[in-house]
Amino acid sequence: MAAKYIIKNATVVSMDENIGNVSNCDVLIENGIIKAVAPGLPHSSDHIIIDGTDAIISPGFIDTHRHTWQTQLRTLCTDFVLADYLLTLRHIYGSCYSPHDAYIGNYCGALESIDNEITYLVDHSHIMNTPEHADAAVKGLKDARIRGTFCYGFYPNPAWEGSNTDKTREETTPEWRLEDAKRVRQMHFPSNGPQELLRFGVAPAEAEVVPFDQLVHEIEVARSLGAAVITAHVALGKYDSGHFTTRQLDRRGLLGPDLLWSHANSLQDDELQAVQRNGMGLSTTPDIEMQMGGGHPIAFKAREFGCSAALGVDICSNCPADMFQQMRLLLQAQRCVDQEKVSGPPLRMTRKCAEVLEMATMGGARAVGLEKYIGSITPGKRADVLIVRCDSTRLVPVLDPVGALVLYANGSDIDTVFVNGEIVKSQGKLTNVDWPKVRAELRASVASILDLSNKAPVQDLDAARDAMVLAFAAK
Ligand SMILES: [Zn+2]
Repeated sequence: MAAKYIIKNATVVSMDENIGNVSNCDVLIENGIIKAVAPGLPHSSDHIIIDGTDAIISPGFIDTHRHTWQTQLRTLCTDFVLADYLLTLRHIYGSCYSPHDAYIGNYCGALESIDNEITYLVDHSHIMNTPEHADAAVKGLKDARIRGTFCYGFYPNPAWEGSNTDKTREETTPEWRLEDAKRVRQMHFPSNGPQELLRFGVAPAEAEVVPFDQLVHEIEVARSLGAAVITAHVALGKYDSGHFTTRQLDRRGLLGPDLLWSHANSLQDDELQAVQRNGMGLSTTPDIEMQMGGGHPIAFKAREFGCSAALGVDICSNCPADMFQQMRLLLQAQRCVDQEKVSGPPLRMTRKCAEVLEMATMGGARAVGLEKYIGSITPGKRADVLIVRCDSTRLVPVLDPVGALVLYANGSDIDTVFVNGEIVKSQGKLTNVDWPKVRAELRASVASILDLSNKAPVQDLDAARDAMVLAFAAK
């Protein structure tokens, strides 16, 4: 039986509007569930007591878009625009990954998430070079004990001579991933309900590059498999295809709450209305979008249209799995844009810290259809909970706990992390993880990937990349 905990005398930032922010508050956790939130709660001798003095309790953060497999290519893309990324990551390194590399990437990326402040992850996993890659990617997330949705990617990484893809399979059965996704759903996700820690989803091949009928077919296959989330890159700012995919899907009656668009910065107003009407989620990834040509993040505008606006990390070969960073970038960029629009000095603040914290918690939960289960410190919800110690040189004193979370805290302040009522980080350390051993495997993995990448036919791949960029920018 799962342990029972009581966190005492903490400052609770609940993200539940009926509870609000409460000082000197206790949180009771039993059997994976938040049982009660109030000052001075009674508890029994079998509760493990955690002192919450000088600490903030927050819901775990929700990352609604990441290509987790890229974890061992950290820092590679930091000066890239999307065109560089498409060549290097998607056409060269992606094809170098073995199943073990996919495992290590997903396992370490999920550990990095927990170590920072992310307890739920949408893994947009376009590393399906073989069926074994799918099994390994799922295992990586399960072994790390993170909550999330594994989205089986239908995108094929190019099969070049010597790569870790199967040229014959790609040529003879190019649609093999659609069939294999069914196997993965049955084998690893026999029940795919909202209470499962890890759920099955689908990421169609590049939605705005493939023929529209292919996208429709892939969405239909995903729905036939009971995908919890179907996620796609859509309306990519400077890389917008001009296909108005959302409008087209709406006309065919194919939009729905299971769809989660990432980026979507060039959605038209009628498309935003369709997103709202159909209860879809939008995942803004500020780091990538502002760097790589994805356009100005749409999250605040999407909220004004009543959409479920959420945040994501996206390309983790470019930025860390850190939602603090995404909240900060989004908030300050928007404040700057807003202030540029007024003549003279700004006389009032337009955007508040609480708005981006909402996007990183409840907004994310709504975007993936789990608002009844996660996203706030609410009795009855699953216990995905952070304890942020306010003892460091940067967090004493805290006069505003929301401001502290949004603009001050970092991963080293995360003392304890609960996922589903289990402690996965305690006293600043991941539990049940032999990090020096894992780190050595991570280093060995990246060495073998870099080694194999030397064999890539860069000139041919460069041409393929150009074709992809042109397809993105077809308008
Ligand atoms: Zn992405």
